[in-house]
Amino acid sequence: MRAKVNQNINLNEYNGVFVIGEQFEGKIHPVTIELIGEGKKLAKQLKKEISVIIAGNNIEKSAQNLLNYGVNKVYYLEHILLTDYITDFYANSIAELLKEKKPEIVLIGATSIGRDLGPRLSAKLGTGLTADCTKLEIDEKDNKLLQTRPAFGGNLMATIICPKNRPQMSTVRPGVMEKAKYQEVIEGQLEKITPIIDKKEIRVNLLKKEKQENTKLNLADAKIIVAGGRGLKEKKGFELIEKLARCLNGEVGASRAAVDAGWINYTHQVGQTGTTVHPDLYIACGISGAIQHLAGMQESKYIVAINKDPNAPIFKICDFGIVGDVYEVLSTIIKTIEEKKKGEELQ
Ligand SMILES: Cc1cc2nc3c(=O)[nH]c(=O)nc-3n(C[C@H](O)[C@H](O)[C@H](O)COP(=O)(O)OP(=O)(O)OC[C@H]3O[C@@H](n4cnc5c(N)ncnc54)[C@H](O)[C@@H]3O)c2cc1C
Repeated sequence: MRAKVNQNINLNEYNGVFVIGEQFEGKIHPVTIELIGEGKKLAKQLKKEISVIIAGNNIEKSAQNLLNYGVNKVYYLEHILLTDYITDFYANSIAELLKEKKPEIVLIGATSIGRDLGPRLSAKLGTGLTADCTKLEIDEKDNKLLQTRPAFGGNLMATIICPKNRPQMSTVRPGVMEKAKYQEVIEGQLEKITPIIDKKEIRVNLLKKEKQENTKLNLADAKIIVAGGRGLKEKKGFELIEKLARCLNGEVGASRAAVDAGWINYTHQVGQTGTTVHPDLYIACGISGAIQHLAGMQESKYIVAINKDPNAPIFKICDFGIVGDVYEVLSTIIKTIEEKKKGEELQ
């Protein structure tokens, strides 16, 4: 069934910024706080309110906590059938609330859940959705939302508007926007909503949940990342990358070329189609610096690049560049750190 575009709507009826929050077993996904941070900036510019919608079961405490991030309203949809994320139940309940509240902007995390939910919500509301935005601004001329995202394989940045329909909807990748600050003083209000859910609405059922191993990896929040690319030549090269990451208490990242070669799991991929990171220190080892990789790491505070080609594009954006063989350079760095640590232990 094709979605119907909402025609001839009165744009003036739509007000304020809404964030669709995400929780798993009561734990709020960090992207929710990032969206609140960005949503607050937009709401301030528009001189409008910011609200959050969160759905689940027994989530009052999590919903209450969201008020500590300076939002005006938190609506929490509570129902036994919302215990786990089930597309139809979540999409129908949240869409009903959005139809009633008529926000002008809706922000959703580009997580696996958000990527499933976002298009369904926009179809139900008969409006557009810009996926994977990296920048959001308000046009000073007419208060429209300018939604910027990489296009054509990341070779250009496209700014998209939704001129005739509301809400203006965007998904934003985790780790891109700055988190809202926690504040002790609560000024907003909490409102519980019990959606009416018809079990017959369900088309997809959840049969089993399996936790993925390696959930400890948290690239998006890592302070130090040592990342390996095709220049490592083989899987074994990641042993050195892991060793340096361990020495520095950091995490292991990778380029897509290294992931595609099967040298490391996709969860380590940094870039446009991987994780967006902004650590204090990013060490790129044998990575050329393709635009799609840079899209996910160029906001790092300090970038160190090791590459044997002095003309590699990564050198244009790094703070410290080392031209040399990645194996030789990494072995020297690891040896130096280990010796320094030993010296400190003896003192
Ligand atoms: C739609 C789309 C999305 C994409 N998304 C991503 C993404 O999310 N993340 C991502 O990383 N890529 C992504 N890519 C792929 C991207 O375009 C590049 O192909 C990829 O980043 C290249 O990885 P690399 O730098 O490891 O490999 P290469 O580009 O092959 O670079 C290897 C580098 O290693 C150096 N080198 C070789 N041997 C040595 C040595 N002995 N010592 C030191 N240096 C050495 C070489 O000089 C070279 O610069 C995407 C592409 C497309 C089209």
